[in-house]
Amino acid sequence: MSPAREDPFMPSGLRLMCVHAHPDDESSKGAATMAKYVDAGVEVLVVSCTGGERGDILNPRLKGDPAILRDLAQVRRDEMRAAQEVLGVAHTWLGFVDSGLPEGDPLPPLPEGCFAREPIEVTAQALVREIRRFRPHVVTTYDEQGGYPHPDHIMCHDVSTAAFDAAGDPERFPTAGPAWQPLKLYYNGGFSRARIEAYHQAMLDEGLESPYAEWLTRMGERPQRRVTTRIECAQWFERRDAALLAHATQIDPDGWFFSLSREIQARVWPWEDYEAAASVVPVVEIEDDLFAGLPSPAEADSLARSRPVLAYDARVGREAAV
Ligand SMILES: [Zn+2]
Repeated sequence: MSPAREDPFMPSGLRLMCVHAHPDDESSKGAATMAKYVDAGVEVLVVSCTGGERGDILNPRLKGDPAILRDLAQVRRDEMRAAQEVLGVAHTWLGFVDSGLPEGDPLPPLPEGCFAREPIEVTAQALVREIRRFRPHVVTTYDEQGGYPHPDHIMCHDVSTAAFDAAGDPERFPTAGPAWQPLKLYYNGGFSRARIEAYHQAMLDEGLESPYAEWLTRMGERPQRRVTTRIECAQWFERRDAALLAHATQIDPDGWFFSLSREIQARVWPWEDYEAAASVVPVVEIEDDLFAGLPSPAEADSLARSRPVLAYDARVGREAAV
């Protein structure tokens, strides 16, 4: 991190926006990174595109609870509030409706009016409005495959990249606020083969049964995403886990995620990974900071207002704008 931000809890003037599909995604993807930046004085805003209305109760201890079943949407809003407080981030709902994960053969059509069926102009405008209000220097989202193939995760990618491209152009969505170009766009890295292998080996070394063997087999030799940026954040794993557990209906406290102790995780994989997608400054691998290469906060603000040209664009099907 730059010297200006080494004093913990001092406002840094930097802003990070993390766009997610459902409440709970922010706690399972990049949560320790966010908590670390919050403690370094960075303003962090989580945007949840949908309310998670079509999710199931995934915690066996809470399955069938009538108080939860009566209004799962409200329960999930309350859980999100609790997770937000643990992480110390700001939070906003984009207001779209969960598309649900379609199941069956053939797959049923997505429900009318859901997030994944909204026109991109509508969803992008909503996110452009948030970008121009919060004025992030860095935005994180999912890769073009959604990180995992839920229609809302893929739409989250589509809307984030469309909004990233449009927010700096005053002629796009002129009623959505003054133009602001975020300076970098990242994809959350998640569970790479290397990370799962490290966890798997650690379980075996401890003489424990590894829940990761099957995952590795399923993964096969599938091509891996690129890692451009690695944030060391083991110190914040406890906050990450507390935020995850705050989404009580969505996480099984006895599940695989908690089978490996935090101490071992910190030893074998103390990072969260990211893939740079687009940037107005060159990306020099391996970065250890999502703000790497950016000028001082004041200069970054002027840059974001000046319609800067991208120096780096690794997005599929796009050429660098230079
Ligand atoms: Zn999700």
